[in-house]
Amino acid sequence: MTSPAPELNRFLDCVHCGLCLSACPTYSILGTEADSPRGRIHLLRAVADGRIGLSDTVVNHLDLCLGCLACETACPSGVDYSQLIEWGRAEIETSRERPPGEAFLRRVMVEQIFPHPERLRWLLLPVRIGRRLGVFSLLGRLPFTCSMLRMVNMLPPLKGHVAIPEITPPRGKRRYRVGFLTGCVAQEMFGAINMATVRVLAENGCEVIAPADQVCCGALHIHNGNPDAAKAQMRKNVDVFGRYDLDAIITNAAGCGSTMKEYGHILANDPSYADRAMDFQKRTRDICEFLASLPERRQPSEIRMRVTYHEACHLAHGQKIRKQPRELIQSIPGVELVEMRESDWCCGSAGIYNLTQPEMSQKLLQRKVDNIVSTGAEAVVTGNPGCLLQIGHGLRDQGYPIEILHPVELLDRAYRETGT
Ligand code: SF4
Ligand code: SF4
Repeated sequence: MTSPAPELNRFLDCVHCGLCLSACPTYSILGTEADSPRGRIHLLRAVADGRIGLSDTVVNHLDLCLGCLACETACPSGVDYSQLIEWGRAEIETSRERPPGEAFLRRVMVEQIFPHPERLRWLLLPVRIGRRLGVFSLLGRLPFTCSMLRMVNMLPPLKGHVAIPEITPPRGKRRYRVGFLTGCVAQEMFGAINMATVRVLAENGCEVIAPADQVCCGALHIHNGNPDAAKAQMRKNVDVFGRYDLDAIITNAAGCGSTMKEYGHILANDPSYADRAMDFQKRTRDICEFLASLPERRQPSEIRMRVTYHEACHLAHGQKIRKQPRELIQSIPGVELVEMRESDWCCGSAGIYNLTQPEMSQKLLQRKVDNIVSTGAEAVVTGNPGCLLQIGHGLRDQGYPIEILHPVELLDRAYRETGT
C-alpha cells in the first residue's frame, strides 16, 4: 500500500442498505453490484485490508466510477464516498502501469498541459489551424480513433485567448471585494464565460481581483490520483489569494469549487497552511451561490427564451447547490425554465472520463441529449466547463440547434440587453 488507507470507520459508515444504487448511473446501465457505490466500497475496503489486490477486474470497476457523487446525495448514512474513491485512485496511479496511451493522457495532458493555460494555448494553436483545414473531421471518419482525436473533436469553436484583467473596478459604489479563480482549461476554452463572470460581478458592486500568479485549483491532480501535486497547487493559491482582503473567492466552475471547498480538509495536517487553507475554503463561493446570496442584485432586462438546466455533479452533489442557479435563471424576465428529466444525472464528462471510458460516457451523453431535446428548449444552461464541452459536443454532433450557456452568460446577456 503506497498511501495511508482511510480509517476503518470510513468504510464501516456504509451499512450496505443499497439506497444509493438507483442513483448511480453506472449501476443503472450495467446492473452489476461491483459497478454500484456499495460494490465499490466493498472492493475498496477489501483492497485496504489487503484481502484482494488491484487486479485488472478491480481497477476496471473503480475506473468506471464517474466520481459524480450522486451516491453521496442518496446515502442516508453520510458515507464520504469521494474520500474513499480518491484514495483508491491514488493507489491505482502509484501501484499500476497504465497502457501507454492512457499514461500519456494522465501524466502528460492532465498533469503537465491542462493545468497550465499558457501551455494549453500553444497546444490549441495547431488545433485551430487543423480545424480551418478540415483535417480533424477527415481523420474522424477513419475506422479507428484515439483519445487525442476524440478530445480534439469534442472542442467547442475556439474563439481565441481572452485576457482577464487583474483588477476590475465595480460599477458604481464598491460593496464587495472578491477574488476570482479563472481556472486553467476554462480560461483557454471558455474565456468568454470568464469575462461574463467579471462583468456580472462588477455590475453587482464587486471589485474583482484575478491574480495573474494563481494556479490550477488542484482538482485535475486530485481526480487523477496525484494528491501531492494537488496540494502544492492548493498551497500556492492559498498564498496568492491570501495577499488580498477578500469577502469571497469566486469560481464559475463546479469542479473547481468542489475542490476549493475541500482545501481546509486536505491541508489539515500541514501546520503552516491548515488555518489559511480553511479560511480559503470558507470564503469560496460558486458564482451562482454568491449572486443568489446578495441582498440587492441588479435587475436583468427581458430576454425571450425557453431554457432547460443541467445540474453539474460537482455543483448538485459535490456542493449541494441546486436552487440558486435556477433562481438566477428565473430572475430574468421572459426566460422560461423547463425542467428536464434526470437533470442531476452525470452527462458522462467527469474530468477525462469521456476519454478514458468512451463507451459508458457516450451512453450517458446520449441519455442527456435525449432528455434535453425532449424539453423543447432553445438553450441548455449548466455551470461547469466539462459539462459545457461534453453536452455542447453531443448537441453539435447530432445537429441539434440548441445553444449551451453558463448561467452567468445568460445573466450577462440580460444585463447587456439594457444597453446601459
Ligand atoms: S453508501 Fe450509503 S446508501 Fe449506499 S449502501 Fe452504503 S450506506 Fe447505503
Ligand atoms: S460516484 Fe457516481 S458513478 Fe461512482 S459510485 Fe457514486 S453514483 Fe456511482
